[in-house]
Amino acid sequence: MKLIDGKQVASDVKAEIALKVKQLLDHNLPAPHLAAVIVGEDGASRTYVESIERTCKEVGYISSVYQFSSTIDEAELLKVINFLNKDDEIDGYIIQLPLPKQISTDNIIAAIDPKKDMDGMHPINSGNLMLGKECFVPATPHGTVELLKRSDIETEGKHCVIIGRSNIVGKPLALLLADKEHNATVTVCHSRTQNLKEICSQADILCVAIGKPEMITADYVKKDAVVMDIGMHRVQDASTEKGYRLCGDVKFDEVAKKCSAITPVPGGVGPMTMVCLLLNVMTAYQRKNEKTLKKIM
Ligand code: NAP
Repeated sequence: MKLIDGKQVASDVKAEIALKVKQLLDHNLPAPHLAAVIVGEDGASRTYVESIERTCKEVGYISSVYQFSSTIDEAELLKVINFLNKDDEIDGYIIQLPLPKQISTDNIIAAIDPKKDMDGMHPINSGNLMLGKECFVPATPHGTVELLKRSDIETEGKHCVIIGRSNIVGKPLALLLADKEHNATVTVCHSRTQNLKEICSQADILCVAIGKPEMITADYVKKDAVVMDIGMHRVQDASTEKGYRLCGDVKFDEVAKKCSAITPVPGGVGPMTMVCLLLNVMTAYQRKNEKTLKKIM
């Protein structure tokens, strides 16, 4: 069984990005700049944004955080979006979800300039993904396919079963795997799927994004299949020093014995999400500065 080392692959991608940033700086060009908008005091969002700031620093990006109280209204937040769209120094930005109830998430997403939409949430980006055209792809599904590619796992002609159909993970992952670059045959399962176990047992590559800790046991997995565990949970565990442990949607110990390759949690798909966000920022920067970059690089 091969352990798919997302941490190592992510570290390789970060080194590639850092090298590109160095080349930009050597040519007296500004570093790429990622902004993050957080509304309210959600602890998980705060942790994610802090790790974005840390990783940006590591690769040489500029980062800025726009933090607002949970009482901000939609009109005020739209003004912020408008500012971020117009500010030429910001190459791209993300808006941490969920937003408070008084704000329409759809209205906010629709207001993002698709060229700065680093989470690939704007309908123009999702539509272009569906059409197989240039677009920004949400970081987690992008990270999952990048991890498969960089781990030399062939997708062409393989039966990929995805459990989960969310707009941010399952659906874009299905579109990516079925596109003409990856050429997989894709089945998407969800909470109303009948015979889930039977369908999963037919997968050459099983991608799990259910949001249920350790739901996928060995009897869902075909012998020698590849298992990509996208889930991420903190579960109570009195036997650990911290009183909790991290796990995915897959029961790692028993599934690992049956499959040919598997992502651990943590250290699998998670680290790839962050670097794919950074890759989106580099792409946005390169598109914005295409003419200058052509002249000098
Ligand atoms: P989500 O929006 O809650 O979607 C979960 C999907 O799983 C839904 O499509 C749901 O079906 C399906 N589902 C739920 N219970 C099921 C069951 N018993 N059988 C079959 N399908 C079932 O979650 P998400 O945002 O896509 O995230 C999924 C997981 O990935 C979570 O654990 C999350 O923490 C993790 N995640 C990790 C990263 C990362 O960076 N590693 C990033 C994002 C998310 P219905 O559509 O029918 O409800």
